[in-house]
Amino acid sequence: MGKFYDSVPVSAIVRIRDMMYTVKDPFRLDQGDVSFDAPDTFKQAVAKAMVDNRTHYLPTQGIPPLRKAFAEKMRKKNGIPIESDDEILVTNGGTHGLFSVFQALLEPGDEVIVPDPEWPPTMAMIQAAGGKPVQVPLREDLRFRWNLDEVEKAITPKTRVLYLNSPNNPSGGVLTREDVEQLAAIAKKHDLWVVSDEAYEDVVYRGEHFSIASLPGMYDRTIPVYTLSKSYAITGVRVGYFAIKDKALRNRALKIVLYTTSNVSSIAQYGAVGAMEGSQQCIADFKTELLFRRDMFYKGLEEAAPGFFSGTPPDGAFYAFVKINPEAAKNAGITGESLSWATAEYLIKNARIGCVPGVDFGPNSEGYIRFCTCRSREELNGALASMKEALSRVAAR
Ligand code: PLP
Repeated sequence: MGKFYDSVPVSAIVRIRDMMYTVKDPFRLDQGDVSFDAPDTFKQAVAKAMVDNRTHYLPTQGIPPLRKAFAEKMRKKNGIPIESDDEILVTNGGTHGLFSVFQALLEPGDEVIVPDPEWPPTMAMIQAAGGKPVQVPLREDLRFRWNLDEVEKAITPKTRVLYLNSPNNPSGGVLTREDVEQLAAIAKKHDLWVVSDEAYEDVVYRGEHFSIASLPGMYDRTIPVYTLSKSYAITGVRVGYFAIKDKALRNRALKIVLYTTSNVSSIAQYGAVGAMEGSQQCIADFKTELLFRRDMFYKGLEEAAPGFFSGTPPDGAFYAFVKINPEAAKNAGITGESLSWATAEYLIKNARIGCVPGVDFGPNSEGYIRFCTCRSREELNGALASMKEALSRVAAR
């Protein structure tokens, strides 16, 4: 590979994360990092693992009680016909799960259908595996869902994988049951694999989360990928998992996991067992609070930046992916080759607000900007006040 990696892009998310360390008193609305405490069941299990000296090498695929808990959860909550715990692999967060899956699945030149907008590491990880992401626009007038005719038109003889991400980061678009059924039919018709990134399975405000792997026959060709990062507010702990029915493919993925991590941190895995086996009330509470923050932020945006951004609150996930009004931006002196980059840089420099330019999520998403609404109420309100002040300074000029 070597120099091949020079051609893999670095996401603006990474560049902005660096930039934010140079900003004093920043509002970290660039980070999809939920500002809640981790569940007590997780913390207690971590403490116990330390006391019990759980500090040694573990099986590469993950510890048996954790794989058992994940298999049970996938069967009961997601309706996926997991036959054996052997089908589960524990990973270093969802990111490592997706990385391993794409490395195991793709041959050079294979095409992968991806939404536009999409969380940028997806495209980079496909490229890192020698594949080619083919982005198909999510339509804002369809509540950021695909027009499925456009998906089918994008399929070529080289297409190998259909990547689904519902709820979608950044737009919050949620596929309906009908969408998922039609996508399953498309995957079967064109003999495609499906990688189903369900990182936001617990954050749906309208409609329902529905895994394509639960449809008859679909788990044979679908790799559902999950993470504990968001649902349990443990992004830094790095625990994720996926299931693969096909043994040969699973063995390939196992090697990637072995050679990239040996095993996921022992302490993190024992903590995750605590989170999975304890009360799940935290997930319902988390969703209620995120819904409040979503509505608070959209309302606040109208007041802080009237006429500057437009968009309706999303159906899922915890981002505000809003359209920038080019005229309003021009009046504020925001100019540049990329409107979304110029706006992001303006907000970072003048209002200390971390945010991510739409163009990072795909070419069709230029002109949008992403704010994370999973930050604390105080931080969101602080960012809104700072935005209002920065924009009123411009108006007073
Ligand atoms: N998939 C999507 C769409 C995401 O937005 C994220 C995180 O932001 C992930 C996967 C993986 O997250 P993690 O590696 O923290 O589990």
